[in-house]
Amino acid sequence: MNQSTSSKKEPSTELSKLFGRKPPRFLSQLENAGIKKIEDLLWIFPYRFEVVPRLNSFAFASPGSKFIGVGKIYHVDKKPNRGFRKGNLSNATIRVLDQFNQDQNTLDLQFFNLYPSQLTKLAEAQIILFYGEVGLFNGRKQIVNPEIIASDPTEEEIHFLKNRAESLKPIYPTLNKVKPEQIRQVISLIPEQYWDQIPELVPSHLLTKRNLLGYKDSLKILHAMVDATQEEKTRARDTLIYFEFFIEQIKLLVRRSIIRSKKIKPIKISQEQIEKGLNLFPFKLTDDQNKVIHEICTDLDRNYSMMRLVQGDVGSGKTAVAIAIAYLLARNGYQFAYMCPTESLAQQHMESFHQILEPLGIKCQLITGQLKGKKRNEFLERLQVGEISVAIGTHALIVDDVKFKNLGMTVIDEQHKFGVEQRLKLTAKSKTEHCLIMTATPIPRSLSLSFYGDLDLSIIKSMPAQRKGIKSRIVTGETFSQFLSFLKTRIEMGEQAFIVVPAIEESEAMDMTNLNQSLERFAQYFPDLKLAGLHGKMKSDEKSEIVRRFTTKEIQILIATSVVEVGINIPNASVMAVLNPERFGLSSLHQLRGRVGRGDRPGFFFMVVDKKISQDSLERLKIIEETTDGFNIAESDLEIRGEGDLLGREQSGVGNQRRIANIVEHSSFLEMAREDATQLFETNQQFVQSSVQQYINDPLVRLTI
Ligand code: ADP
Ligand code: MG
Repeated sequence: MNQSTSSKKEPSTELSKLFGRKPPRFLSQLENAGIKKIEDLLWIFPYRFEVVPRLNSFAFASPGSKFIGVGKIYHVDKKPNRGFRKGNLSNATIRVLDQFNQDQNTLDLQFFNLYPSQLTKLAEAQIILFYGEVGLFNGRKQIVNPEIIASDPTEEEIHFLKNRAESLKPIYPTLNKVKPEQIRQVISLIPEQYWDQIPELVPSHLLTKRNLLGYKDSLKILHAMVDATQEEKTRARDTLIYFEFFIEQIKLLVRRSIIRSKKIKPIKISQEQIEKGLNLFPFKLTDDQNKVIHEICTDLDRNYSMMRLVQGDVGSGKTAVAIAIAYLLARNGYQFAYMCPTESLAQQHMESFHQILEPLGIKCQLITGQLKGKKRNEFLERLQVGEISVAIGTHALIVDDVKFKNLGMTVIDEQHKFGVEQRLKLTAKSKTEHCLIMTATPIPRSLSLSFYGDLDLSIIKSMPAQRKGIKSRIVTGETFSQFLSFLKTRIEMGEQAFIVVPAIEESEAMDMTNLNQSLERFAQYFPDLKLAGLHGKMKSDEKSEIVRRFTTKEIQILIATSVVEVGINIPNASVMAVLNPERFGLSSLHQLRGRVGRGDRPGFFFMVVDKKISQDSLERLKIIEETTDGFNIAESDLEIRGEGDLLGREQSGVGNQRRIANIVEHSSFLEMAREDATQLFETNQQFVQSSVQQYINDPLVRLTI
């Protein structure tokens, strides 16, 4: 590991080497901001440039303009700075005599708040090279707090500056309290040959095709190492945006080619069997469900592992697809594992699988943390000899002693609730390593390209036909009592309701309190109804007991905190009300809404806001009120909240590595990079090999999803 893990926290060697013996302290601040290597520095761009004149005689120092001069110190007037609390800082006026030529002109350099060491150093020098803006004080020309370019410069240095034309001085941003000037200093120390050896990572024919520049040239232009027109500067920036997307795509392709290079035995499923799989259900599968089942069967027949993402709104019938696949695998002698984020979900899925598969003699078993002792051992035994074909569970499935006889495929439901390692551990239990990821979060194209770009994608767009639809409304203070009486009516009609309270991330204890307060509040509104609270952190038998009582209609209103806990499928629940909906992302609201209106009755979705909500938040909620298309909602969400939030930060363990490219603003460059990278990978085996070598240990290649 590098030094950043040692207790002393030495800054990385590559940057400290730039400074020779004594690296400045701000290097560790830079390191904390992610600037660890010279290349990282090159991605800090100046946001403007200052024109620096050539070195000249004092006669050219005109008030109001910048000036570089060289002067001999002949008088130092030092005063302690009394205003300052420590008292050891001082102000100094240093009078210098023009050394450019011998016309005896003088200039005052006025310093404020000098540290003693700075003052000593200044006073020790005989000749200084300085830079700053000229002003007038009591009729004399002076420069306040000039930058000292050099103390006692050599003849060559002076000669160099004398003969240099005007130049541009880059003004960098402040970064993690490191001052612009300090950033400029460290960048200026990067040796010339480093700049000249910056490698090109995008083949030049692609740059020509897209009218872009090279990596090296773009960096040089943006740091004003070379002269460039405004148009070239724009092209340089475009190049770097394209470049970031391109490298990201290459990494995803590397990931895919690594998966595909491990050869496995194909699983051939006959057309006749597929037909049977499609007809297991009391309903007719939608065209999209059919299509996805066929896609998966085609994947299974290949000699490398499947990595497929199935996207479809809540209720679009993803679980039905999984059941059909489990059936087909079992018929071909393979086992099937399905991992859900919570116990209640696992239990629900277990029931769905059991209902369809047990009558056909396919054994299904639930495994959660609840399964213990003798029962668990018995289960492990039966799984290992292949008596059980379908294992459905929580991350209890991952534990080492859970062994399969012949696991054919792993399904991960809502992968973003798990870590990457968990997914890898479960898939590793099979020889085929076929993996299907299911998600109800609609993912905008740009995001799925940049994040899931190496996965095959199946989308279930059509919803099962007999859905009665969902009506969505924002409830304000004025309409709250109307909402209450509506709720009462639906419950009197024999329906049930969810009330969702946002999770308070900082504290589970506060969460509970919040939930209990809402529970009390609604219990007061409805003294005659049965209400219960459900919280992710309750004991698991307590939870399943509440879910059971809700399912059997003993409870009429369920008040829940965690979004996942509401993932349960209760067709009789027709009303959902979300309190403080502004605390949820739009996609989460959309997913919550999918929990109602599942039966043959219409669903109602209420977003209950209180007075304090901002106009912006209200506008966002209106998107939910007016739109039912999950993809449109996800697009809006992406624009509002950015990509990190949409997928959950823990999702990848790495997140994106891009510095300036943004998938919302620069989606056209993403498309270009995607197209070019894919084409290159398909046509240039040598490029594939060198990319694999280069990126095989990159976190994005090893860890994502
Ligand atoms: P998802 O997992 O995508 O949320 P499910 O597979 O749980 O959706 O399906 C939701 C409900 O719709 C379930 O009760 C399921 O039995 C039913 N369902 C699934 N597919 C169809 C279909 N093609 N026609 C009618 N009902 C369906
Ligand atoms: Mg599901």
